[in-house]
Amino acid sequence: MRNKINCVVLLSGGLDSIVMLKMLKKEGYNLHALSIDYGQRHKKREFKCAKKIADSEGVSHRIIRVELDKLVTRTSLINKELDTSDVSVIVPNRNMIMLSLATALAFETGSQYIAIGVNASDYEVFPDCRKKFLSAVQKCITIGTGADISVLAPLLHMSKTDIVKAGSKLGVDFSITHTCYNGKKFCGTCLSCLVRQEAFKKAGIQDPLNKKK
Ligand SMILES: [Zn+2]
Repeated sequence: MRNKINCVVLLSGGLDSIVMLKMLKKEGYNLHALSIDYGQRHKKREFKCAKKIADSEGVSHRIIRVELDKLVTRTSLINKELDTSDVSVIVPNRNMIMLSLATALAFETGSQYIAIGVNASDYEVFPDCRKKFLSAVQKCITIGTGADISVLAPLLHMSKTDIVKAGSKLGVDFSITHTCYNGKKFCGTCLSCLVRQEAFKKAGIQDPLNKKK
């Protein structure tokens, strides 16, 4: 029997990463999930959900701590005094850090791929979710390692609504996902909850975390 191809998947416990994980598993990859603790304000619920997702899919899961919160205070994702309803949620070049750590785990696990759940709904706000950025990171990984490790972004051209629809078709349990920047089940005011709410509404699917809509 042919050996399965190994792939490191960045798992935040949110909608994007659960749908991506399901898609890649269906495609036959042997997955290694990685969550990054950078001091985000919502990390408790995020990692609880990430673990539930990994366990439910029988995928190994690691959480790596990076003390970004000791360097960066001008982002509301780390600084609890700031408001999470606007672009202050940007953590500068976060995906570069995450993809670098995923590359390290790819070495460790003999993985040929690393996967990240960036998508079309992220482009406008987050510069490190754009195709141009991913192409540049790919060059860095190739030059910096000399290894055959490729970045996968299977959701790149999908909107959040497309992702909800795809997840529904794949049988994703949306109740074990985490979205809220404020660390709640659903606060309905942070940027992330608002985008989630809109996506479920447009997809015509009931969100188990937001029973009102
Ligand atoms: Zn929220």
